[in-house]
Amino acid sequence: DKAADAVARLTRWHDDFPTPGVRFADLTPVFADAEGFRAVIDCFAAVATDVDLVAGVDARGFLLGAGVAATLGTGVLAIRKGGKLPPPVVSREYQLEYGSAALEIPADGVELAGKRILLLDDVLATGGTLAAAAGLFTEVGAEVVAAAVVLELEFLKGREHQGDYPLTSIVKL
Ligand code: IMP
Repeated sequence: DKAADAVARLTRWHDDFPTPGVRFADLTPVFADAEGFRAVIDCFAAVATDVDLVAGVDARGFLLGAGVAATLGTGVLAIRKGGKLPPPVVSREYQLEYGSAALEIPADGVELAGKRILLLDDVLATGGTLAAAAGLFTEVGAEVVAAAVVLELEFLKGREHQGDYPLTSIVKL
């Protein structure tokens, strides 16, 4: 299909980034391509009907979230890296290869209890990021009805660490 073709054709691979031994998939050219971006957004907008809010993970998930929310006619929520949002926040720590990081959403100002969430990010690698993001919403009584990523690095088995929400990926490698 169009989205998968754009991802396969335009993704830029970089060896030993950000650390030695890692092969980094840079989706920048996919998002910068008019047809590629449109195809990815349309694919994600078809993942779940009946969504109240689209949430994207810092930082490339913001681009996806905004595009999909505008297409579906919902609002969009930025899931921020720790320390970026003023308090009060709901925070979830997750493990990185070395050390840990945190994701945060606002604890007030946005009514989240009972809301149906579509959760988006660009790449699923070990899965810790997406699982932490989903955990934020369960903590506030929202429901992650579906999650979607552009690229799933299957050999890292990130899917195994997810909750029971359906997880769509446009390309699996
Ligand atoms: P995970 O927690 O190991 O699944 O890593 C996923 C998070 O790290 C996502 O937010 C991605 O944006 C980022 N990430 C990990 N690997 C890559 C990659 O190869 N390309 C782009 N982003 C990546």
